[in-house]
Amino acid sequence: MDYIACFDIGGTFIKYGLIDRDGQLHLKDKVPTPKENLQTELPEVLTGKIRELTRAFPLTGIGISSCGLVDCEKGEILFSSNLKGYSGMKLAKILTAKTNLPVSVENDVKSACYGEMWKGAIKGKKNVVFLTLGTGIGSAIIIDGKVVNGSGNLAGELGHTVIVDNGRPCSCGRKGCYERYAATSVLVQDYIEKKQQNSEVIEHISGEEIIALVARRDPLAVAVYEQFIHYICVGLANVTHLLNPEAIVIGGGIAEQGDQFFAAINNGLKQEIMPLYHQDTLVFPSALGNLAGLYGACYLTLKKFKHPIA
Ligand SMILES: [Zn+2]
Repeated sequence: MDYIACFDIGGTFIKYGLIDRDGQLHLKDKVPTPKENLQTELPEVLTGKIRELTRAFPLTGIGISSCGLVDCEKGEILFSSNLKGYSGMKLAKILTAKTNLPVSVENDVKSACYGEMWKGAIKGKKNVVFLTLGTGIGSAIIIDGKVVNGSGNLAGELGHTVIVDNGRPCSCGRKGCYERYAATSVLVQDYIEKKQQNSEVIEHISGEEIIALVARRDPLAVAVYEQFIHYICVGLANVTHLLNPEAIVIGGGIAEQGDQFFAAINNGLKQEIMPLYHQDTLVFPSALGNLAGLYGACYLTLKKFKHPIA
């Protein structure tokens, strides 16, 4: 049996787990991502966990799902905006030298998409789009079973396609990007701003709390939420007309909102797309949640090093 040590490196935590080639998850845990001296600390943390895992299971490889821009061929981090000292790290080379095991590295959103294709919401599908709605919008596109990387691993940035001309400023330098209208953080921001316009002060509210207010038909929450759903659908309609996917999967915390949220999205999307593109359900919640990246890391390692995959 092939056992892969899988890591999902994020800005706050490193999630890790041990998954076999049948997709059985044998253990999972997380450790905080080192904040100082990342160049030395991160490989230390990873090799420490790999050593622990090796005592219990005979490892055949290491799979990394990572935040930032990744060169998956070389296993290098090209750029990371949220981890200081991470850009340029030759992660596969470093870990192979320390452990003597084959290592694959891929971007976390692309990994999560592969995870969902292997054991999650889109098993057996070959043309799919995967999105995470959180602080921003992450996305991955799969065509004919292969992730679209583009010429420099930069393809698939749906979050930075403009949906409102001359709209809200975005961190990328443009105005009116999709992620400035349809990320979960925007729902919260809009609600707080609307409250302020009514001279009410709110210190903090979560997306989940706003959705709970929607369920109680709070008029302001309903208005903000309906606009949020509308903008999500505008972006999804663009991607549907562009790629004609079999399925669109939404991950991130909002995916846990369940049936009502996805019914609203599917109905809203139908209003936006041409009838030829209609399907009963086009948009699905992630089935693996925050484990999708680990499953994808396992799958990609098995695939890259030509191990049998169940
Ligand atoms: Zn942008």
